[in-house]
Amino acid sequence: MKQIPFRDVHLDFHTSGLIPDVGADFDPAQFARTLTEAHVGSICVFARCHHGYCYYPTKVGTPHPGLRRRDLLGEIINSLRAVNISPGVYTTVVWDELTSQSHPEWRQVTAERKFIGGEGAGWKWLCMNTPYANWMEAHLREVLSAYSFDRLFVDIVNQWGDGCVCDHCLEDMRENGLDPKSPTDRRMEAMRVRSRFIKRMRDIVNEYNPEVLV
Ligand SMILES: [Zn+2]
Repeated sequence: MKQIPFRDVHLDFHTSGLIPDVGADFDPAQFARTLTEAHVGSICVFARCHHGYCYYPTKVGTPHPGLRRRDLLGEIINSLRAVNISPGVYTTVVWDELTSQSHPEWRQVTAERKFIGGEGAGWKWLCMNTPYANWMEAHLREVLSAYSFDRLFVDIVNQWGDGCVCDHCLEDMRENGLDPKSPTDRRMEAMRVRSRFIKRMRDIVNEYNPEVLV
């Protein structure tokens, strides 16, 4: 049975593309020493954030434009392994500003055919029933094949509470005898989409390392 770490840290790292010199002064040894002195047993660090940027050399996604290190994620994981602190890796699903802008056709849509999220300070919502799921698979495979870590935090795995009626969800509902005009059926579809996506991502993780907690 796996031991629960004494102290677990989530290093929240959602960083706007407007911020320059990301990681410029990062010192891996000092980072690991500080965590050791604080008796941290495990820490979750970022592969990608809600702004949609990656913190490792990626072919699938987009590195943060202000990143001043070739592989911040790799450096962090190596520094943690060197002092026996357990690394977890964070990525985001439904909230990804960059992908929402480059692929508006992947966004979730309300019953009134309006985009979900993105009003004011809110994040735009991407739909897990679109080809974005394929993009997420490629992203996860890239991270899983490049790094060794113990936990994967796959954040914001939600369809809108009242359901999404993007073109992909509409087609899926019709194929499965669900009525897009029915709130109950829309919610049913939202739960189906979410469950299917979770299973798909878990199966991918299992291909690489079934010991990774998700
Ligand atoms: Zn949808």
